[in-house]
Amino acid sequence: MKKGLMLVISGPTGCGKGTVLSELMNMSDEFVYSVSATTRAPREGEVNGVNYHFITKEEFERRIAADEMLEHAKFCDNYYGTPKKEAEEVLASGKNLILEIEVNGAMQIKKKFSDAVLIMLLPPDHKTQEKRLRGRGTETDEVIAKRLDTARFELSHLPEYDYAVVNEDGKITESALAIIDIVKAERFATKRNQDIQKNYFN
Ligand code: 5GP
Repeated sequence: MKKGLMLVISGPTGCGKGTVLSELMNMSDEFVYSVSATTRAPREGEVNGVNYHFITKEEFERRIAADEMLEHAKFCDNYYGTPKKEAEEVLASGKNLILEIEVNGAMQIKKKFSDAVLIMLLPPDHKTQEKRLRGRGTETDEVIAKRLDTARFELSHLPEYDYAVVNEDGKITESALAIIDIVKAERFATKRNQDIQKNYFN
């Protein structure tokens, strides 16, 4: 059975990752969202085990020490990480695994898994990003400022990603379709099809 693709999706706050990814999940059952662990407090409406596994700092550090995380990083004073076991199970099932993670974690994945596909989802520009973030109304001014500042660092890593998808206002479906197109193309990549050459004259 074919193994699923590991898709890393990063993007500055306000790029619309959450909305685009839920659209993608509605469009296709070939994708499974990896539920991360975090020490951040749940936002209103977030459900433990669905949006994140909300755990304490002590428990997070225990999991790092026990090598239970595929990658982990600190973002705005909180830990975030990908549970290893769940990720391996999804890939073995043949479905595509979506890791919605920030840049430091993405770079760890790129180093460990050369066949991972890295996509950065972007707001059209910094001004639109700020407007979206303030419109969400879930963060304090201080947190908003910090997150906007992080965008400079995130953008500086864009060349290390394989694909850039700009999520224009009102174009959620187009952005989700772009991710599906990327996956379709990746399935034809020569590095994933080396058996064609090997088996050709047999
Ligand atoms: P938020 O607090 O807005 O849910 O997430 C903050 C940032 O952490 C986002 O950029 C999100 O993609 C990232 N993030 C979420 N889960 C993980 C994870 O498991 N690992 C890493 N490295 N980043 C994550």
